[in-house]
Amino acid sequence: MFEIVIMLLPVAAASGWYVASTHYKSKTKKPSNEYEGYFKGLNYLLNEQPDKAIDVFINLLEVDDETIETHLALGTLFRQRGEVEKAIRLHQNLIARPQISHQIRTNLLNELGLDYMRAGLLDRAESIFLELEKEPLHQVHALQQLLSIFQQEKEWLNAIEYLNKLELMLNQKQPILLSHLHCEAALLYQEKNEVLSTTKYLRKALKIDPKCVRANLISAEIAIDNAEFKQAIKYLLKIKDQDVRFVPVFIDLIINCYEQLGKPKQTFEFLAELQKYNESTGVMSRFLEVLLKQKGAAEASEFMREKLVKYPTKSYLKLYAQIDNGQINDEATFLRTIINQLDEELPSFKCQQCGFSSVDLNWCCPSCKQWGVIEPVLV
Ligand SMILES: [Zn+2]
Repeated sequence: MFEIVIMLLPVAAASGWYVASTHYKSKTKKPSNEYEGYFKGLNYLLNEQPDKAIDVFINLLEVDDETIETHLALGTLFRQRGEVEKAIRLHQNLIARPQISHQIRTNLLNELGLDYMRAGLLDRAESIFLELEKEPLHQVHALQQLLSIFQQEKEWLNAIEYLNKLELMLNQKQPILLSHLHCEAALLYQEKNEVLSTTKYLRKALKIDPKCVRANLISAEIAIDNAEFKQAIKYLLKIKDQDVRFVPVFIDLIINCYEQLGKPKQTFEFLAELQKYNESTGVMSRFLEVLLKQKGAAEASEFMREKLVKYPTKSYLKLYAQIDNGQINDEATFLRTIINQLDEELPSFKCQQCGFSSVDLNWCCPSCKQWGVIEPVLV
């Protein structure tokens, strides 16, 4: 029952609003065809054909400065209820009327643009907001919508252009978003093998936001692709000064570069330094591996025992159990088997804006769509 009431809400609004508006607006006698139309609408309503009833009521109404707010409210109601097709039909129908003023038309266009966005019809929304961008009253909102559309369409150069316009208009900088858009543009040029443009956009990203970890990561990945491992390490180590929490995320890239250059001493020094301020399992396991290989089981075992006393965690216990220290008695083997079966604790990332958690690093949060808000969670 309640659902039926909710379903008929817009219809009731439309018919009630029609009655109210005709009551106030006209003291003169109504033409009979208008009353016919009203009863036709009521008839549709009684026969449970709410869509047709709404069309009839809407067609009967005048659109002017007094009734426009009600029309817009009805359209918003449809859109919020997810009935986007009805909202689109309502707004298209109203825009098509020849007698509406310029201001009413632009208000309706704005609503139609939002309908199209909600329906995922981004091309149509784009042409509407491009038109509204020229209207002083709608300019800021149109620029915001276009910025969102260009991001969804992955048209990064347009997104940069519109964010620049918006920043200028609002006198408000958004460096994190702007630098990520430059990183996306750089990747676009990288795909086309346009080296100069790729470098230009990465440099710009860092100029806009000197803390942009991603720009250095992309530069490092390009250097690795070109077998320029020394250069890649330079970029990756810059991340330490930008946001030290991200270094463990790219730890394997760094180790791989040192290995490619045949620099085991540098690998050891890098990890020994890193584990002093980052005691995550990821860092510890890599350091332990190098320690074992370069200094032997006794030193590795001693190191891990000290860590375990300080931090008696499940992850550290597993690392300790993995060290083959030559004890091959039954008890040692039994303990090692059990410890290795303990749950794996995966390193993960968390959005500082909405709390979204993931195993993979996303530069743009899949949940709240904000850029640069996902940070590593230390495990
Ligand atoms: Zn988020």
